[in-house]
Parts: sequence; C-alpha cells; structure tokens
Amino acid sequence: MHYGIDVGGTKTEIAIYDRNWQCLDRWRQPTPAQDGEAFLRMLTEMVEEADDRCGSHGTLGLGFPGVLDDQGHLIAANLPALRPWVLEATLKAHLDRPFAIENDSRCFVVSETGPGGAAEGEQHAFGAILGTGAGGGAIIEGRLLKGGGGFAGEWGHLPLPAAAAKRYDLPLLPCGCGLQACLETYIAGPGLVRLHRHFGGVSESAEQWHQAWLGGEDAAQRAHQCHLELLGGALANVIKLLSPRVIIIGGGLSAMDELVEALPAAMGAQLFPDIKAPKVVRSRLGDASGVRGAAMLGAGSSTIDRH
Ligand SMILES: [Zn+2]
Repeated sequence: MHYGIDVGGTKTEIAIYDRNWQCLDRWRQPTPAQDGEAFLRMLTEMVEEADDRCGSHGTLGLGFPGVLDDQGHLIAANLPALRPWVLEATLKAHLDRPFAIENDSRCFVVSETGPGGAAEGEQHAFGAILGTGAGGGAIIEGRLLKGGGGFAGEWGHLPLPAAAAKRYDLPLLPCGCGLQACLETYIAGPGLVRLHRHFGGVSESAEQWHQAWLGGEDAAQRAHQCHLELLGGALANVIKLLSPRVIIIGGGLSAMDELVEALPAAMGAQLFPDIKAPKVVRSRLGDASGVRGAAMLGAGSSTIDRH
C-alpha cells in the first residue's frame, strides 16, 4: 500500500492507494497550524490509522504548501508552527518509515503525468495550479525538476510585467511571499477578483466575476482580457525557460472552460511567431492530485523514476 498526505493550511488529508493507484480510503483532519506538537501527533496518528485500516505498513509521501530551505526549515505562510523545526529530521523521528516530502504543487504535476493523469506518460510537462495561489512544478525529461533550492516551479512569484502594469494602470500589490507585485497576486482566484474591482466591478469571488462576465459586464470583460494577458505571458515565460509539451491547469480557476480554452492563443501571442504553443489540458484528478502525487513520490514509482 501507498499513503499520501496532503497538508493544507486548514485541512490535512491522507489517502491510501493500491499498486494500481486506485484510492482505497481517504479521510481528513483539521490542521493544527499554530501548534507544532499537535501537528506531529496528528500526522503520526493518521499514519498509524492507515496501517490499521489496511493491515499494512505502507510507503509514505507528504505534500506541503511551502518549500524546504537549505537547512530543512519549511517556509510556509500558512503553517507558522512548523517554521522553527528542521522538518524532515523531526518527522523522521516520529514516522515509523522512510518518506518523501515535496511541495504540493510539485506533487500535482507528478500525479497528472502519472497513470490516469491528464498528461499520462508525458516527459516534458508543466503543472500550473490556479486556486487561492498560483503554484507549479515541472517534469523535464521524465523527472520532477527539483532545483538546488527546492523552489523550481514557483512561476506565481515572477514579477508583473512593466508594460502590462502601465497599460492597465495596475497597482503594485504586496505578496504573501514578502515580495511586491508577484503575478500570483493578479492571476490566482483572488487576483482575478482584484482585477475585476480594479476595472470597476464588485465581485467577492472568482465565481461572481464569472457570472458578471457571462452577463457581458464591461468591467468583467476588461478584467478577463487583462487576466488572460498576464496569465498567458507568465506561462509564455515558463515555456521559454522549460519548453514543456503540455501545460496542465489545476485549481479552482481550471473549472472555467473559457479560461482554459483561451490560454493557447494568449500564450502564443507572447511566444516567438513560429513556435506552436504547448497543449493546455485541465487536471484530471482535480483536488485529489496533490495527495496522489505525494503518495507516488513516497512509493518511488512516479515520473521521477522512469529512467
Ligand atoms: Zn510572491
């Protein structure tokens, strides 16, 4: 059996998979994000319960919304209690087995290029999550691109292009990562709402923007045009650096057909004239992709081990 754990800022999910990556069981707990000891207890109990439920001693992979720095500290705005620890070493002392640990967006691309994923078997892919934030990860030559510092794939924290900022008169907003005017602040779900308001709309959620857009509202159209240009440009930068054949879109915004369908042209407008934009596909495993990717990394049977 293979266990995946997806640690979120509010909920932590564990899922049990068989060798064919069928999910046999899954459950969730609230994440004690402010209490490190309670967090460790929760993880330990989840793994013990998984062993009990399936009468096995499964492999384990953990996905986190953050990055591990060179010293093994987790940098994650939503999990402040874990910051002081050397995370991997602390977990090793409590979890009764070897395990893999990876950023949750990197887990997403591992899952979506794995069996049954939206880009199954693809050797060159980029996974872009557009939800409350904009995370990502790349599979290059069949391997998860890890990089030296653990943050390869953080496309959401590339800066807003000056030309678009000027043309649309966009404010330079602070980002949760500590930088200013990161693309995430404009292209993730809350960013789309910000753009809508910037152009005079009144939405509180991406869904409300969508309704206004469907109704033909001018502010919603302008927000959509600006959003597509920023998103297309950001992904065009990713393409110029990594040359993926497929871009897999996940997260809440991926549910909007119009957005996914408009992306190839929006990316193409910011690529070299004769270069064909990569295929854009929607995540096939949806919200389950992160936990499944973590389990795949833990099992050592993911895209990173195809060589
Ligand atoms: Zn940022």
